[in-house]
Amino acid sequence: MMIVIMRAEATMREKSAVIARAEDFGFKVHLSDGKERTIIGIIGDDRVINRDQIERMPGVERVVPILKPFKLASREFRAEDTTFPLGNHTIGGGNGIVVMAGPCSVESRSQIIETAIACKEAGAHVLRGGAFKPRTSPYAFQGMGEEGLKYLAEAREVTGMPIVTEVMEPALVPLVCEYADILQIGARNMQNYALLHAVGESQYPVLLKRGMSSLIEEWLMCAEYILSHGNTRVMLCERGIRTFETYTRNTFDINAIPVAKHLSHLPVVADPSHATGKWEYVAAAAKASVAAGADGVIIEVHPRPEEAMSDGGQSLKPEKFAKLVTQMKAIAQAVGRDIEA
Ligand code: PEP
Ligand code: MN
Repeated sequence: MMIVIMRAEATMREKSAVIARAEDFGFKVHLSDGKERTIIGIIGDDRVINRDQIERMPGVERVVPILKPFKLASREFRAEDTTFPLGNHTIGGGNGIVVMAGPCSVESRSQIIETAIACKEAGAHVLRGGAFKPRTSPYAFQGMGEEGLKYLAEAREVTGMPIVTEVMEPALVPLVCEYADILQIGARNMQNYALLHAVGESQYPVLLKRGMSSLIEEWLMCAEYILSHGNTRVMLCERGIRTFETYTRNTFDINAIPVAKHLSHLPVVADPSHATGKWEYVAAAAKASVAAGADGVIIEVHPRPEEAMSDGGQSLKPEKFAKLVTQMKAIAQAVGRDIEA
């Protein structure tokens, strides 16, 4: 793959001519119309493209190969941060930090509505809740399925918050899209390429969790799958990785936040709940995420964690969550940002 950097003053006609030439060669073209300039990504076998021929076309400043294995996800392809709306809020671009919150699983109509109202009052912008749950044991609660999606949609009616929920298989993407606003790809499914293909063809924002034993590069390659199928709205979510440590459920890879932001233009979200696995440590990890440059956080909240059907031990009660939002706001302001209004 290579990118064609057009001159700032290049005309529409000149851009179209470059695209037409690349397509004539049989290449796939991805356009990135930035504020400063247009970049045209040309994807295909580099040996076949005549780089000089394109470089000499009117309006072209230069042609550079992208050397990283991830292309569309890389900062080389797009220098500016990607931003997109989530409901009435915007994620990415150094703007306000988006707070997503809610229970691990939807357990009943009243539970999700009660939790949604409490999260909204505490300052959350997006409601989370799993209806299809990837559980370690086949005997554990597997989620409410479509009924759970219906309750999530009701909670959106009540609070106005958009919904993020996990989709576990390609065949269920259309069903989840009927109810959800944002599709979550779980850590266990990060490298489910058929699923990445399916969400890449939807135009819904995608929250892509990092696999529990994945390299940052592998995670970015999975984002690349989604982008290459035409969906530009991908968020990278660091949720902790597996290490030798056992006092916490996972080890929060705080490094992944600045590394992902350096390598990629995509918004980065932190999940301190799964990263620590214990409610006592969630606030510390959440505040660290904000300080480290996360564009969003996703936090598990349950009104009665002791009764939760999944992840009760890492869920915050609404009062604790409300206090945390206030503290995250102070941290955000200390690093020149803010929590979304
Ligand atoms: C979840 O968000 O409840 C979840 C299952 O997360 P992960 O895929 O990161 O384990
Ligand atoms: Mn969970």
